[in-house]
Amino acid sequence: MKTDSQNILIIGAGLAGTCLAHQLIAKEHRVSLLDRGINHSTAIAAGMVNPMVFRRMNKSWRLDEFMKDATTFYIHIEKELGRSLFHPIVIRRMLSSEQERNYWIERSKLPEYQDYLTELTPEDESYSLAENQFGSGRLKSSFWVDAKVYYEQNLHYFEAKGNLLKEDFDPLSFDENTLNYKGITYDKVVFAVGHQQVNTPFFKELPIQQTKGQTLRIQSAEMPENESLNRKCFVLPMGDQVFRIGATYEWDNPDLTPTEEAKHELIGHLGILGSYSYKILDQQVGVRPTVLDRRPILGEHHTIKNLYLFNGLGTKGYLMAPTLARELSDFMFEGIPLDKEISIERFYKKISALNS
Ligand SMILES: Cc1cc2nc3c(=O)[nH]c(=O)nc-3n(C[C@H](O)[C@H](O)[C@H](O)COP(=O)(O)OP(=O)(O)OC[C@H]3O[C@@H](n4cnc5c(N)ncnc54)[C@H](O)[C@@H]3O)c2cc1C
Repeated sequence: MKTDSQNILIIGAGLAGTCLAHQLIAKEHRVSLLDRGINHSTAIAAGMVNPMVFRRMNKSWRLDEFMKDATTFYIHIEKELGRSLFHPIVIRRMLSSEQERNYWIERSKLPEYQDYLTELTPEDESYSLAENQFGSGRLKSSFWVDAKVYYEQNLHYFEAKGNLLKEDFDPLSFDENTLNYKGITYDKVVFAVGHQQVNTPFFKELPIQQTKGQTLRIQSAEMPENESLNRKCFVLPMGDQVFRIGATYEWDNPDLTPTEEAKHELIGHLGILGSYSYKILDQQVGVRPTVLDRRPILGEHHTIKNLYLFNGLGTKGYLMAPTLARELSDFMFEGIPLDKEISIERFYKKISALNS
């Protein structure tokens, strides 16, 4: 153990908490992860990493750096956890308009898109396994992470190392002045509780929203298993003719009940891709921690020193979390400032302006 090794408590062992824990352990800090063992986001997610924003056919925000770190992280972590969870996949976008098709043709010729967009081929034009009015295009570098395996195996991993406190965080047992929790004093404490931020006493003033998402699992002998079809919804092949269809976006809704409305919405979206026969196996419900400006929130509490937040991973958590965990760790231990776009300061400034 290094001499400057610190004692860290991370509350929440979803993507945010686990990515940070792996980073800190690699730097030889002593990490305790606290999690209640029930997860409605990291474990429920489709875990897809899609490099593009299709509407205007742009690269996703900070794509190149996020993608590099994420790929390296998941390949490393599946070895560390001893379970396969990283699955490269070709996403086939069924183009939805002439304009989208033109964007694709233009962008796919640009050097900065070479890692992500393939140029349209005659096979893409004549692709017959889905509705193909405007042609289709294939994405490179995309992958999906088996979300349930990721969450469960991380819990096993940290439990086996003696790093996991499997319990509800008890605010009455926490003294924020000394950072003492149940008799142990920590050097730093990080809240990474996802959409349940609203139920914790710290950082309540920050605008983390709860965005419900629902998906269907279906079985079909007619749908392609070698690619993930995409238009209006994604179709993620999971093997053995089983597919995940998703996802809905239900803003400001933390309710965990599956609804008929969402089921019909997803069936309708699937129908746009083609008229396949299939059987619905089940319906999953989760809640994403989202922020109105669509950027995560990282940083230190405005009055309590050494109390940190890592939240707001939103719809692209699996892409962003590994890089953001490193940036938060650099901020906590090296004092390297967080980018303005992700820093908690953007909200504290607004709040103090309102109060003055
Ligand atoms: C339906 C759906 C589909 C998605 N699909 C994708 C996708 O394809 N690709 C993608 O990149 N992202 C996807 N996401 C988003 C992604 O899942 C999130 O960005 C990410 O999981 C958020 O991780 P987190 O660690 O911040 O929160 P969480 O995963 O919610 O983790 C927080 C943890 O904190 C614990 N916790 C909270 N409060 C307490 C407490 N008081 N005491 C003890 N423990 C506590 C919880 O038990 C939980 O395990 C999807 C999300 C949903 C809901």
